[in-house]
Order: sequence, then C-alpha cells, then structure tokens
Amino acid sequence: MQYGYQCEDCETSVWPVTTRAELVWLKDRLHVAREVAKHSQTGLDTWIAEGMAFLNDHHGHSVIVVSRRS
Ligand SMILES: [Zn+2]
Repeated sequence: MQYGYQCEDCETSVWPVTTRAELVWLKDRLHVAREVAKHSQTGLDTWIAEGMAFLNDHHGHSVIVVSRRS
C-alpha cells in the first residue's frame, strides 16, 4: 500500500514515499516539523518537504490521510 494526503476541498492528493504513521505524525505536528526545518543544516527528507509543501498549500482545508494499492 501507498499512503498520502488528500485535500477534500480541492480533490487533489500527494503521495510521499513514507509510512502511514509518519504522515499522521507530520499532519499532527506540523508546527514541530516547521521548527525542525528551520534549524536543519542538512535539509529535510524528501517526504517531509513534499508533505509540508502540500499541508502548507492546503492550510485551513480538510486534509485526510489516504491509502491506495501500489
Ligand atoms: Zn485544498
């Protein structure tokens, strides 16, 4: 299975390469992830950058974690 975020308002989705638990963590702790990003010297993992960009774009929208068969 693949996991991703879907915006119910825009009906678009993104599929970063990571686990469901990581996606739930990032969605619930976006403010923490932003702090980590600010202080990170080495750059973010791709899935975090991708996930954060999507969550930022759809701030205030109804974003859910979804799955699909890979
Ligand atoms: Zn949206």
